Amino acid sequence: MVRETSLSPDDFIYPLFVTYGKGVKKEIPSMPGCFQESLDLVTEHAKEIRSLGIPSVILFGIPEHKDEIGSGAYDDQGIVQNAIRAIKDAAPELYVITDVCMCEYTSHGHCGLIEEGDVSNDPTLELLSKEALSHVKAGADMVAPSDMMDGRVEAIRLTLDEEGFSGIPIMSYAAKYASAFYGPFRDAAESTPQFGDRRSYQMDPANRREALKEVALDIEEGADVVMVKPALSYLDIISDVRDSFDVPVAAYNVSGEYSLVKAAAQLGWIDEQRLMMEILTSIKRAGADMILTYFAKDAARLLNS
Ligand SMILES: [Zn+2]
Repeated sequence: MVRETSLSPDDFIYPLFVTYGKGVKKEIPSMPGCFQESLDLVTEHAKEIRSLGIPSVILFGIPEHKDEIGSGAYDDQGIVQNAIRAIKDAAPELYVITDVCMCEYTSHGHCGLIEEGDVSNDPTLELLSKEALSHVKAGADMVAPSDMMDGRVEAIRLTLDEEGFSGIPIMSYAAKYASAFYGPFRDAAESTPQFGDRRSYQMDPANRREALKEVALDIEEGADVVMVKPALSYLDIISDVRDSFDVPVAAYNVSGEYSLVKAAAQLGWIDEQRLMMEILTSIKRAGADMILTYFAKDAARLLNS
């Protein structure tokens, strides 16, 4: 009765990595228990996720072919577009969010179009809008632009409204830090930049006030849910955002945060279940309304038992 924070499977969004081929279920070496899965297997997985009481998934695509302009990102028959249709077919009540970015689809691994050796903001906005629209047309319930280009939320909002999808919300990766905690994810999504890094468009981990500025801008542009990423080293940011704004706050408990726990558990150095629950509780206590986490299934099983 006096416990202030309680977790529920309802709090979780589970990230899925969908890939091409058939019968593919490839474990991500640095993320034990997480897989790249082909469409035929991801549908069964979606049913399992729903049966655990987890309401939502976020999809990341691994396309068969990458090119300079990331054309797989906005192809109506692209990997994510087909995955949305397959999941909606298998588990209609599962709320499907899609990651909207170019880096999984570009041969250079950057989040946008490259001009003169650098990511070019404005031409990228057009492609992101096309990508978001194609996801929504395939049945996505919410789109989540993760690239951090300036003006992307507004560009996507305008496109969706024009095309008759004004009811589809946008979850923006509003405060996204240039973090070493993303390392394992880049194995998972095969999206490591081939040159340079993403520091020109992600935030300096040393900055706190800047996060509020970024979040305010995204809300102004039309973001319905704002995300802080990563979560664990940024609990103060989650708390600040919660206190300062009245929109739902999401926190991304990222790959590195997951891998650290898994690795230490494999070595027998920590109590995995207790640590997992402590971390997730702290993220919720800081103010997150929803948590994107690779622990979603493990934690839901524990909460359901
Ligand atoms: Zn990206």
